[in-house]
Formats: sequence, C-alpha cells, structure tokens
Amino acid sequence: AKAHGRGNYQFFTAELNRKAMRHLMLDTRLRKALEQEELQVFYQPQVNPSNGRIVGMEALVRWPYSPTEFISPAEFIPVAEEMGLIVPLGEWVLRTACIQTKIWQDAGLNLRVAVNLSAQQFRQQNLLEKIMMILSETGLSPDYLELELTESTFLEGAEAAISLMNKIKKLGINLSLDDFGTGYSSLSYLKRFPLDNLKIAQEFVRDLTTDPCDVAIAEAIISLARRLGLKIIAEGVETQEHLTFFQTHHCDLVQGYLFSRPLPALEFTELLKKNSS
Ligand code: C2E
Ligand code: CA
Ligand code: CA
Repeated sequence: AKAHGRGNYQFFTAELNRKAMRHLMLDTRLRKALEQEELQVFYQPQVNPSNGRIVGMEALVRWPYSPTEFISPAEFIPVAEEMGLIVPLGEWVLRTACIQTKIWQDAGLNLRVAVNLSAQQFRQQNLLEKIMMILSETGLSPDYLELELTESTFLEGAEAAISLMNKIKKLGINLSLDDFGTGYSSLSYLKRFPLDNLKIAQEFVRDLTTDPCDVAIAEAIISLARRLGLKIIAEGVETQEHLTFFQTHHCDLVQGYLFSRPLPALEFTELLKKNSS
C-alpha cells in the first residue's frame, strides 16, 4: 500500500508540474496572441426550431495556436481570467463580433449576436461606457446585441449587478443567463435579475433521450422560464431527437452541432446564404 501511495504522489506532482508548465506557457503566448491579433471569433447559428431559420449567432473566441492546433477557450479563458487578460480579450471579442454583425446587416442579413461576458468583465468600472463606445464605433444597433452571463457573475454584489444589468438593458441590449442549472444556481436569481433569456445547459441536453432525470430537469427549466416570461435557448442540440424535444416544448431558439459547429465568418456567410434561399 505504501509503494502504491508513493507512486500516486509522484504521479500527482508530475501532473501538477505539467499543468503549471502549460499554464505558464499559455500565459506568455496568450498575451502575445492578443497583442498581435492572432485570436479569431467563430460564430455558431441560433435557429428558430419551428422553421429552421437562423435568427442569430453566438460569438465564440478561438486561438489558433499552431497551424494544426486550436487551444480550446475552455482551457485558455480561465488562464486569461487569472492573468487579468480577460478584460482586453473580452473587449476585443465584443468589438470584433459587433463589426462582423454590422457587415452582415449591411448585406441585408439581420441577425442578433450573443457575446459571452466573464464575471471579471462585468465587474470592471467602465463596462457600460465601453459597450456604448463599441456600439457607436461599429454602428451596430443595441437591439442586435445580446450578452451572456453566467451565475458566477452574481456571486458578489447582487445589488450592484442588478443595477448594472438594468443600465445595460436600458441601452436596448438583451441579457441571457448561460449554462443555467450548472453553477451556484439559485432560483431567486431568476426573480431578482433582469434577464431576457435563459440558456439550458448542454449537460441537461446531452442525454435527454436516454435519461428521464434530464427530461424532468429540462421540462422544469422550460416551464419555470416560461412562467417568468423568459425566452428559452437550448444549446448542445446534436440530434434530431433533441430537436424534436425542443420543438414539442416550444423552445424559442436552439443551437448545436445538428445545425452547425461554430464557424469562421466567411463560412458562416455561406451557411447564411444557404439558409435564406
Ligand atoms: P459556452 O458559452 O457554454 O459555449 C458553448 C460551447 O459549446 C462552445 O464551446 C461550443 O463550441 C460548444 N458547442 C456548441 N454546440 C455544441 C453541441 O452540439 N455539442 C457539444 N458537445 N458542444 C457544443 P467552446 O467554443 O469551446 O467554448 C467553451 C466555453 O468557453 C464557452 O462555453 C464559454 O464559457 C467560453 N468562451 C468562449 N468564448 C468566449 C469569450 O469570447 N468570452 C468568454 N468570457 N468566454 C468564452
Ligand atoms: Ca455562452
Ligand atoms: Ca453555455
């Protein structure tokens, strides 16, 4: 048992070391990538489940780390948050997404764009001014912008968060609660925070067709959201069965690999042309 224990320990430190090294490497390279505009924004369609029309998209950041490798935002966003890089990074994503959405609009394609906002971005002093500046610079009308927040945003200073959310909404921007049900959920959030949309977390969608528990959770979230006057967006819709479920339950929007993976702007434009013809 002793030898086993020591083996575990060695494995543990080696693993820790590997993680620390990777972290350090990501830190330095990410700073450079942001400065040199190596990051990209991809777009994933949000679809009206009743007619298959694309009505908007979620902007998702990508880091082409080498010609063959993308580093997942699930890995580098937490690093960016730790280094305080998330604020400039998030601002860059917001600006890029607004510019692109305006380009599509000028081409006659009126779509809403949803941009993820991390808790740290939400806590910065001049967020409202920054958003207003980006909208005026890019010429995008605020009602075409949506911001996605997670429950972690509400952990500190609920009153301040509510007041900021109200100001953002006064500009005409919509607010979504992302990954609902996975974080430090509290149902009171739904009552107290001025939200427009609720996104059902992927983890409840994945096994929807095999796990009756997930069906119960998804149905409860949908009926709760509806009675509170929130729109429902289902993400992680991968199969026809998933889609049928959300059609039957009259979800407002669906998003997932069934329709498309997140795409670079050029490929998204092609998808839009096919969808509208
Ligand atoms: P998220 O906001 O929940 O975004 C949805 C994630 O699910 C995306 O992963 C998307 O590519 C993936 N996805 C979409 N459809 C499907 C599907 O049908 N099946 C499965 N299995 N996955 C699907 P991605 O792009 O790797 O992003 C991961 C997370 O990184 C995002 O989760 C978000 O929390 C964060 N993130 C991405 N871009 C940004 C950003 O610009 N700012 C901030 N703060 N966070 C971002
Ligand atoms: Ca999101
Ligand atoms: Ca999500």
